Amino acid sequence: MDAATISSWMREIDVAVRAERDHLVQLDAAIGDGDHGTNMTRGFEAVVRALDADAGLPPGKLLMLAGRTLVSTVGGASGPLWGSALRNGGRVLGDQPTFDGRQLVEVLAAALAAVKDLGTAAPGDKTMVDSLEPAVETLRARLEAGSSLDRAMADAAAAAEAGMRATIPMQARKGRASYLGERSVGHQDPGATSTVLIVRALQKAVGQGS
Ligand code: ADP
Ligand code: MG
Repeated sequence: MDAATISSWMREIDVAVRAERDHLVQLDAAIGDGDHGTNMTRGFEAVVRALDADAGLPPGKLLMLAGRTLVSTVGGASGPLWGSALRNGGRVLGDQPTFDGRQLVEVLAAALAAVKDLGTAAPGDKTMVDSLEPAVETLRARLEAGSSLDRAMADAAAAAEAGMRATIPMQARKGRASYLGERSVGHQDPGATSTVLIVRALQKAVGQGS
C-alpha cells in the first residue's frame, strides 16, 4: 500500500459521509446538536481538496495533512478528534513510501490513542471509541492469526458495526450527549456511526490496492 491507498481512503470517506449526511444529522439531532453530518461532510470535502492540491506526498504526510485540514475546518468535537487521530496515525509512517498490514494496524492504533488522549473517553461511554477500538483490535488479532488483509479488514469493519449498535443502550458519558443523562439511552451514537463509514472506506481502499 502507498499514498494512493491513503488518497482513496480519504475520497471514499468523502463519498460515504456525504451519502449518509442526513442520517448522521438525524442521529446527532436526537442526542446532540444535529451538526455531525454537516461537520463530517465539510471536513472531508476540505480534505479531498487539500490532497488534490498537494499530490506527491508520502502516505504518512497525506494523513497528517488530512488531520490538519479537519482540525481547521470542523468546529465540532469530531474535527479535533479525527484531526488528531489522522495526524498521530500519519506520524507513525514518517516519510516511508509504502506500508504493509502490520504498519496499518500501528497507524490505526496511534489514531485511536490520540482520540482517547484528547477526548478521555473509554469504551462504554457511547462515543466513536466504541466502534474504533473493536475495529483496531480485531484487525490486529486477525492479522496476527494469519488472515489476509482483505479478510482482516472485513472482520474489523464488522466489529466496528457491532460496536456502533452496542452504543444504542448506553448512557453517554462524554460529549454533548452526556448532558442528556439517561435520555441519551436508546439512541445510536452519531460519531460511532460515522466511524463505521470511515472503517468501511478503509476496507474499500485497501481492497483496491491488492
Ligand atoms: P459536537 O458534539 O461538538 O457537535 P459532532 O456532532 O461533530 O461534534 O460529533 C459528535 C460525536 O463526537 C459524538 O457522537 C461522539 O461519538 C464523538 N465525541 C464527542 N465527545 C467525545 C469524546 N470526548 N471522546 C470521543 N468521542 C467524542
Ligand atoms: Mg454535534
